[in-house]
Amino acid sequence: MPKADTVNTWMACSRLDEGEYCFRQKQKFVGSGGFAHNPYIANAQEIPRNDPARSAQPLQRTRPSTRSASAAAAAAPAPAPPAPAVVEKAPLAVSAAGGVDEQMRVLLQQIDCTHLMAGPLATTALADLQKLNRTALLAELKELGVAKLPERQKIAGAVAKATLGTPMAVKKSRFEADYIIIGGGMTGTGICAELLDYRKSKTIIILDRLEKLGGHWLYAYPYVHLHNFTSYYTLYGYRWPEHIEKDLEHRASRDEIIDYFGTIQADFETKSNLEMRFHVEVPTFKAAPQGGGYIVTVQDLKNPSAEPVQLFARTLIDCTTSRMGSAPPHKPMIGSCPQNIYPNNITQMDIPRVGAAGKRVAVIGGGKTGADAVVHLVRNGVPPQSIVWVKKYDLSFGKREKPQDAFASAEQRAANPLCPLLLTSHLKFKNGVPKFWSLEGRGGSRRLGYCVLPPDHPKNDSPYLNHTGGGMLDDEELTLLRQIEQVIGVVVDNSYDKRGCITIDTNVAAYAKGSRIAKTAATKEAITYDWAVWCHGYSFSNYEKLNAKRGKMCMGMLQPGLFYPINWWGSASQGGRIMGRFLMMYEDGLLSGRIQFKFILLQKFLDKYSGPFNTALLYTRSALMESFAYYVLTTTNKYGRPYRSGMADVPWFSKDEVYPEAKDDVYWYLHIDKELDKENDRLKREKQKAIEVS
Ligand SMILES: Cc1cc2nc3c(=O)[nH]c(=O)nc-3n(C[C@H](O)[C@H](O)[C@H](O)COP(=O)(O)OP(=O)(O)OC[C@H]3O[C@@H](n4cnc5c(N)ncnc54)[C@H](O)[C@@H]3O)c2cc1C
Repeated sequence: MPKADTVNTWMACSRLDEGEYCFRQKQKFVGSGGFAHNPYIANAQEIPRNDPARSAQPLQRTRPSTRSASAAAAAAPAPAPPAPAVVEKAPLAVSAAGGVDEQMRVLLQQIDCTHLMAGPLATTALADLQKLNRTALLAELKELGVAKLPERQKIAGAVAKATLGTPMAVKKSRFEADYIIIGGGMTGTGICAELLDYRKSKTIIILDRLEKLGGHWLYAYPYVHLHNFTSYYTLYGYRWPEHIEKDLEHRASRDEIIDYFGTIQADFETKSNLEMRFHVEVPTFKAAPQGGGYIVTVQDLKNPSAEPVQLFARTLIDCTTSRMGSAPPHKPMIGSCPQNIYPNNITQMDIPRVGAAGKRVAVIGGGKTGADAVVHLVRNGVPPQSIVWVKKYDLSFGKREKPQDAFASAEQRAANPLCPLLLTSHLKFKNGVPKFWSLEGRGGSRRLGYCVLPPDHPKNDSPYLNHTGGGMLDDEELTLLRQIEQVIGVVVDNSYDKRGCITIDTNVAAYAKGSRIAKTAATKEAITYDWAVWCHGYSFSNYEKLNAKRGKMCMGMLQPGLFYPINWWGSASQGGRIMGRFLMMYEDGLLSGRIQFKFILLQKFLDKYSGPFNTALLYTRSALMESFAYYVLTTTNKYGRPYRSGMADVPWFSKDEVYPEAKDDVYWYLHIDKELDKENDRLKREKQKAIEVS
């Protein structure tokens, strides 16, 4: 960690040159700004969020409570005796005048919740709410008739801010921080949550070029849903609204995900050691000349002509990589006309006209976005026979299953470590599903390797199964997609004259990088269309340009002062938290040489037997990596309970559950009600039995 004089040394640094990490190529840097040194505060005794002692230990309050015994107990400063199990509730005091509480009215106005003025909330004194800790406050708000959880969380955030008396908007901007996180998507948010819980005395800055937390979801196409169940996209400690948590097969829509990030942001805003800066871009960063740490250049996007400023990060965490440079904008489509659209604009299509007899829609791109577009069109009335789905590869998808079921039997487990070996050997597939006994009998087959080509498609056994944009599907989607006419080829031309026409080359292999296969006219085909929806996705060339190490699996992701979380760990569910804990373990010297050695071995194994652009294998990799992560996290109990993935049931070779307690861990961190899950499963089994009997 840099000392004060080191920090000051690079206040003089006005120019960044070689060794700089460039997000934008040829970005010219003009340095300005400086950093006021904040003394490094020793890490105080911290109580993890998941430590039972924490729930017994209420938040510190700013003034003594005049409320009931329970509220008073909750309001006492730490350390406090555990709260009584049965709480005797006293009604909240109505504002002095018995009418509308003026402070409450202003607060509700400030957070755009004036519609709540009509309810009992408006007559409640703000001062009373300020006496409650967050949990008690959320419960109180519910009782006061604030039905929606995001609203309750928003109000709780505003009340906390009012209590602290330091609204985020006027908080003094820092020029240095212990941690600077670039990217406010799920990865950055998860790491931040972990640091907030376990590094309470450290300062954190999140930087993002978008307007709020949420990452790529903020500009996703409107009909997008999580491809997996919502519970699996839970950041531990942040609850989804009750109706969503109760529906264990719920898959959140874009707007629900954005709302979820909103509740996280509302909580983050109450943290005095965290600052979030939006509409700012980091074009470059580089190692500080002396003494560790990183210099981060920050451009205000609202004021692009302003000189960029420099911030100092003792540790820089780069969470930009998983969707960086991706949609929008997409790779430019070949040729253009009003009937050529991107998935975000699908709502512009006049569906009855598009679905009329003789009309044809070409959906280009065989990944998750293409699959979503096809499903969306069919569910909105476009007949399946009007659609032609053009794709470069017959991509494979996973089968959607409840994560907590991953432990039910070997058959249901996420993956088998043999998958990489078996899938890459390109042996026999049936309907895109590998046929090996080892996969069918011992896990993996049920969740991996489903391609959506119709069963009689000539290229059904294609080795291209190992290229995928994948995602998860259920049986209904699979059946729907397999009805669609599908063509495998590279789009090489696109023209439009009254009707559109794309030219594809079915000789896909000839277009591979460095391929020596000749391209011939004989393999080209014309496909006419009335509408084309370009779902050809992310431009990987953008990633290459970024000069960012994208999810590289090596210990190099962790080095003094710099952290690149691994993409497929960081992005999913607790990935951010897991990565955050890795970072803390690294800082605290808890990632031993032995663990690092095992990690390198695992990395070598996966690099040899699976490819980077392969979702089926990616899930296998995820399973292995997450199992490994669990093992790493359990090597210390310094930070409390480890997070366990729904996939982390090593070694998979056994037909029995290997870690019977694993399911409980999954219930815990995904906030799933175990009893409800059991009851649902019972009802499902009964229904199934009834069908079988009849
Ligand atoms: C259609 C779809 C469905 C999905 N469904 C699931 C699912 O069901 N379950 C699941 O676990 N995952 C799912 N995912 C994967 C999902 O991408 C990840 O779970 C996760 O949301 C990625 O988060 P991230 O933080 O890594 O990246 P992002 O969300 O892309 O966040 C990166 C952030 O960095 C910012 N940024 C980038 N460069 C800069 C810069 N230079 N300066 C400042 N800011 C910058 C960006 O603005 C962005 O906010 C899905 C993805 C897609 C596309």
